[in-house]
Amino acid sequence: MVLADLGRKLNAALSSLNRSAVVDEKVLDATLKEITAALLESDVNVKLVQSLRQKVKAKVKASFDGTDKSKDLNRKNVLQKAVFDELVALVDPGVEPYKPKKGICNVLMAVGLQGNGKTTTCTKLAVHYQKRGFRCAIVCADTFRAGAFDQTRQSATKAKVAYYGSYTETDPVAIAAQGVAKFKKERFDVIIVDTSGRHKQESELFEEMVQIGDAVHPNMTILILDASIGQAAEAQSHAFKESANFGAIIVTKMDGHAKGGGAISAVAATKTPIIFLGVGEHLQDLDRFSPQPFISKLLGLGDIQGLMEHMQDLATQNPDRQKDMVKKLEEGKLSIRDWREQIQNVMNMGPISKIASMIPGLPADLLSGSDDDGSQRMKRMLFITDSMTAAELDSDGSPFMTIAKDGKPTGLTWKVVRVAKGSGTSVREVEELLCQYRMMANMAKQAGGKNGWLSSMQKMQ
Ligand code: GDP
Repeated sequence: MVLADLGRKLNAALSSLNRSAVVDEKVLDATLKEITAALLESDVNVKLVQSLRQKVKAKVKASFDGTDKSKDLNRKNVLQKAVFDELVALVDPGVEPYKPKKGICNVLMAVGLQGNGKTTTCTKLAVHYQKRGFRCAIVCADTFRAGAFDQTRQSATKAKVAYYGSYTETDPVAIAAQGVAKFKKERFDVIIVDTSGRHKQESELFEEMVQIGDAVHPNMTILILDASIGQAAEAQSHAFKESANFGAIIVTKMDGHAKGGGAISAVAATKTPIIFLGVGEHLQDLDRFSPQPFISKLLGLGDIQGLMEHMQDLATQNPDRQKDMVKKLEEGKLSIRDWREQIQNVMNMGPISKIASMIPGLPADLLSGSDDDGSQRMKRMLFITDSMTAAELDSDGSPFMTIAKDGKPTGLTWKVVRVAKGSGTSVREVEELLCQYRMMANMAKQAGGKNGWLSSMQKMQ
């Protein structure tokens, strides 16, 4: 995952702050130099990077009074928070996208150049909304490319999504209108219209998009952009905007291109919201995008909001239990048993590295290495919890601690040895698990509600 490289570099720059005793101008400049280099390597526009640098510098300088060394801790926080906020601003267009609603027929139209991932993304979108309880259908209005309808048919069948298209009809506007009318009549909730991405002349492509738009009246037109074009995303989205008035963008192939950061920031500069990122060729490789959680995850700080959304997806399987869990997470009252259930859910939810990056406090090595390595480590974590008694699982970890009179933990009890023996792991692994659980529980507690951990970060200033 190429974005992870950017995240690692940004993280390294911020972490190096912890090694500096003071945050003076020299440290500030060195940190900003590292951050700037990482962003430029990701193809973020030079002007945007310079502006980020100046804004961070101004914010931190405003907190310097030159002499008082006791304020250094606070300065570190101010610098970290300023960097965080400016990174969010870099990818935040400040515009809310349309969100499909239940109870009406939402028509979404996908436009973009051929090869950008339109057809794949249409099916991924259908899968995404289907998981959230919407009945979805795809209309293939690409009559230009031979094989486009076959591709839709195959991927829609695989995803168990309804589809419409024609081998004989050559007028894309007619197909789009017929398909949408049919699915509206059948009361589908989300109808996704896939359009052509190439014509003999560009003007014909744009003209066709306008005509299809006039025929199906989409609630939202989505431009599909390939991340590999980097900052050129700005020019391409302007060109499309002039004809197809799209309301949202999906940037695809974020898994394969070092220029992804450039594409995202370039799109944000056009004041159009990015709604998803395509992160692979599989149907589930679509990440919802919103600026704060994106930066939080990029910096390895977890994404409680994303995690909650995933848990809500699971609610379809066990509504009561998951509702209970979301409440507990919001209240910061997670027991070891709850945490274990989350690990089990994570293992059922798809690629480990992707989900693990949402969970604050999980060990960094779970996020690196192959997904097989990640699954093995998670399995060992489950073995450890399997050797705990019911009371221990329902606890907040205190049965494993010796506690001093003032309530502070002073060490570990013999129970840790028993669990290690029972699970065929080492005392160290059990200690690590308890430590990770405590971090997770503390993060959840600090997050304390809908704004995620950010609210606690804002309080630091
Ligand atoms: P279209 O011409 O715009 O409809 O593009 P397609 O949907 O046919 O996709 C073109 C190629 O890009 C196919 O090989 C897809 O598998 C691939 N693709 C689409 N989205 C992604 C993505 O997010 N990541 C990667 N790695 N490949 C993608």
